[in-house]
Amino acid sequence: MTSSLIAMGVAIFAVVNLVIGLAVMSMLFGTFETLFGKPKLSILRPSKGGNLFAFGFKWNSAKEPAAIDIIKLRLFNPFGSPTHAEVSQKFEAKKSSFGIEVDMGPGLIELLGAKGLDKAMVQVELSSTRDGVAFQFDMKGPKFRKLVMDSLDGVENFVKRNKLDVVKTSKPPIDIPIRSFIADTVPGKGTQLIIATNPAFAAQFAGAGAGAAAPTAEVVPNFAVLKVWIEPGCIVCNACEDIYPEVFDVTADTCLIRPGAPLDDGLKILESAEACPVEVIKFTRAS
Ligand code: SF4
Repeated sequence: MTSSLIAMGVAIFAVVNLVIGLAVMSMLFGTFETLFGKPKLSILRPSKGGNLFAFGFKWNSAKEPAAIDIIKLRLFNPFGSPTHAEVSQKFEAKKSSFGIEVDMGPGLIELLGAKGLDKAMVQVELSSTRDGVAFQFDMKGPKFRKLVMDSLDGVENFVKRNKLDVVKTSKPPIDIPIRSFIADTVPGKGTQLIIATNPAFAAQFAGAGAGAAAPTAEVVPNFAVLKVWIEPGCIVCNACEDIYPEVFDVTADTCLIRPGAPLDDGLKILESAEACPVEVIKFTRAS
C-alpha cells in the first residue's frame, strides 16, 4: 500500500514537472518569436552625407519568403510642407536578411528638410516586385531624422555583426548638385562669379542651352563678408564644406563656422549658401 502510494506520488510529480516544463518552453518560444521573429529595420549611418540612405533589414525568410528589391520612404506631413512626399529606389533583389546603402536622390534631402517634420510621420516600406510582399515601418518624423543623422552603425558593421550579405546599390552614389550657374573663379581675372547671363562669360556658355548666354547681367564682383552663420535645420549634407572647407566644418549633427574663417571671398560663401538644400547658411556683407 505504502509503495503504491509512493509510486503514485512520483508519477504525479513527474506529470506536474512535465506540464510545467512544457508551459515554460512554450512561453520562452513565444517570447523568442515575439522578440526575434518579427521583421526588423535598422537605419544605419551612410558612408557619406547627401542622398545616401543606409539600412539593414532582418526577417524570417523561411516563414515569409520574398525577394526584397524596393525601398520607399513616405512622408505624411499634414501640418507642414510638403504635406506628402514619397521617394523610392530599386536595388538588387535579396532573399534573406541584408544590409545596403541606397542612393535615394535629392528627394531624401527634401524629405529630411520638410517644414513641420517634427509633427510628421515617416513610413519606410520594403517590398518585393516579384512576390507582392511588403513590410512597413512607421515612425515619427523626429525619430526618423535622428536615426538617419545619429546612427553610428554603418552597413559594413551591421553586415559583419549579423553575418549577412551586403547588396550593391542600383545606381552609383551622387553628390548634392551645386547649382549649375555658379562655378569656380576665373583664373587671372580676380574672383568673379560666372553666371550664364553674364556677358563677360558668354563664350563659356555658348551652346549650353537656350538663353544660357543672354547678355542681360553685369559681371558680379567679389565682396567681403562681415559675418556668416548657420541657422537651425542643417541636415549635414556636406555641400558647404565641399565648396568651402576653410569656412564650413560639417560635424556629425550640424555645421559650424571655423574659428578665424576667411571672410574675404563672399562669392564662395554665396555659392555655399546657394548650394545648401535647406537654406540655413546666412551671411551679411561687409559693405
Ligand atoms: S549648412 Fe546646409 S549645405 Fe552645409 S551641411 Fe548643413 S545643410 Fe548641408
